[in-house]
Amino acid sequence: MNKIIIAIDGFSSCGKSTMAKALARNIGYLYFDSGAMYRAVALYCMQNGLVKEGTIDSEALRGKMKEIQITFTADPESKNSITHLNGIDVEHEIRSLEVSRYVSQVAALDFVRSEMVEQQREMGKKKGIVMDGRDIGTTVFPDAEMKVFVTASAEVRAQRRYDELTARGDKADYNEILENVLQRDHIDQTRAVSPLKRAEDALLLDNSNLTREEQMDWLIEEFNKKIKAC
Ligand code: C5P
Repeated sequence: MNKIIIAIDGFSSCGKSTMAKALARNIGYLYFDSGAMYRAVALYCMQNGLVKEGTIDSEALRGKMKEIQITFTADPESKNSITHLNGIDVEHEIRSLEVSRYVSQVAALDFVRSEMVEQQREMGKKKGIVMDGRDIGTTVFPDAEMKVFVTASAEVRAQRRYDELTARGDKADYNEILENVLQRDHIDQTRAVSPLKRAEDALLLDNSNLTREEQMDWLIEEFNKKIKAC
């Protein structure tokens, strides 16, 4: 059977990664989390003194780009993907609210994006992948056979993020998270390079009121349609 590329884009914290991961597992595809790559670059900045008074020192970062290697491995038991920054497992650290605070600034830098996009295209060379992010269907894989644009209300998204952080034992403040979600939406939609927007040929999925099962049924149905059409 022909393999395709599935691009899942949408707003922060609307469950894209969970959905993309589950879809990939169901259909036997590889999953790639492009947001994790931008998060790893933000973490690198925090660890290497490249954040000055709350702002990323972009010129210093430009000079360091070649020193940043981001790779993924699969957890042997759960099969979930684990992000590594220069060989070190940073999967947990990159999900912190502190990283979330800086990541959109990092992701707005053209030289960061061009480097990440190049690596992401390499990951899709053999097809058979599900990748989620903000610009996967518009910039990274404009010819992806299946594109989904996911959305949900900001309040629903903030609540989900709050539940995720508290479930893993982290301290969380709902209002602070909501503010972060809104701020990231704004930066992602208004940045000059590859702003977040729905590709014309992307299927729209508002999952504010859908269960995970309903959502998966819908995705599999759409996937089967696309496969038949290929
Ligand atoms: O998906 P996630 O929320 O982990 O992504 C973190 C941030 O990385 C987003 O808020 C966005 O600023 C950026 N991002 C991006 N392009 C992508 C994936 C993520 O700009 N393809």
